[in-house]
Amino acid sequence: MQRPYNFSAGPAAIPEDVLQQAASEMLDWRGSGMSVMEMSHRGKEFISICEKAEADFRQLLAVPANFHILFMQGGGLAENAIVPLNLSQGGAVDFVVTGSWSQKSTKEAGKFCDAAVAASDEAQGFTHIPDAASWKLRSDARYVHICSNETINGVEFQQLPDLASLGSQAPLVIDFSSHVASRSVDWSRVGLAFGGAQKNLGPAGLTLVVVRDDLLGHAMAMCPSAFNYRLVADNQSMYNTPPTWGIYIAGLTFEWILRQQEGAASGVAALEARNIAKAELLYQAIDGSQLYENRVARDCRSRMNIPFFLKDETRNQAFLEGAKARGLLQLKGHKSVGGMRASIYNAMPMAGVQALVGYMQSFEKQS
Ligand code: PMP
Repeated sequence: MQRPYNFSAGPAAIPEDVLQQAASEMLDWRGSGMSVMEMSHRGKEFISICEKAEADFRQLLAVPANFHILFMQGGGLAENAIVPLNLSQGGAVDFVVTGSWSQKSTKEAGKFCDAAVAASDEAQGFTHIPDAASWKLRSDARYVHICSNETINGVEFQQLPDLASLGSQAPLVIDFSSHVASRSVDWSRVGLAFGGAQKNLGPAGLTLVVVRDDLLGHAMAMCPSAFNYRLVADNQSMYNTPPTWGIYIAGLTFEWILRQQEGAASGVAALEARNIAKAELLYQAIDGSQLYENRVARDCRSRMNIPFFLKDETRNQAFLEGAKARGLLQLKGHKSVGGMRASIYNAMPMAGVQALVGYMQSFEKQS
């Protein structure tokens, strides 16, 4: 049976191989007599799962040895508070606002620190990334925050900013929730990266934090212990009970990523090549049509989340119903933006994008 293609922004499609493997190990994980859900997080079985997941993630994104990989809970929204509680010491923090998520991050951080907007594209409806040369970065900023892929607005940094070249000594914090492991990361430009797992890595409930060693140990006194990066790192993510099931499924997903091949490329590089091809196909179909449009500037269009509008909005419902009937699920746009959105994360095969493009073209012809 062919499963439908699921274009959800998150929780999102998980590679079928991963679901199959989890199903086959559900009642008895590798002769242990237990489901992973039933294991103590301190037992040798789960510790082996967690250590392998961490090592595989380090390998697939080439995370340097001076960064810690933390498995936490709370999602991206909790990190909007946890990051300033750990890094800001209540001081200045600068935000580049390129969409709904960086806007939310700014507002939340304002409860804990002196959060200021260094640049914003709100006036243009979040369709561009403000030129880095125009960012108003403060010399005393404890860190600079960006959302490297805006899931709702479909705006993605194609390169991470080099803060040092902009005259800033502050570490860069990136919210990479919705494009983690879809492309490589230049860690020389990053101090901390965080993301919820539920788009590219596995089920909801797991949050990944990758943090440079020198940024640990500066938490404000009010920071909850379970969210203190130093404590979490010193306890190998087991200061409290971690999201064990999420870590297990993410670990299977990391193994799946490492197995991917595309020509001479493997792992994330293979997925990146596929992601570029998938996004190009869909943007070309949108740009080449009379019915569909995408409003994001070409140099910062997301490879993962592609919002598009029907120029005749009265046809939205018919479009969605026809898509569902063809096994193309969850294409409705975010309520704050409207229209449609196709999220084409790592788990979406090229065949799914081809099926969507074929449907869009036949729907347009019917008009
Ligand atoms: N940041 C980004 C870029 C997101 O896409 C999301 C969720 N869609 C969040 C933060 C919030 O994550 P969560 O719902 O896991 O708290």
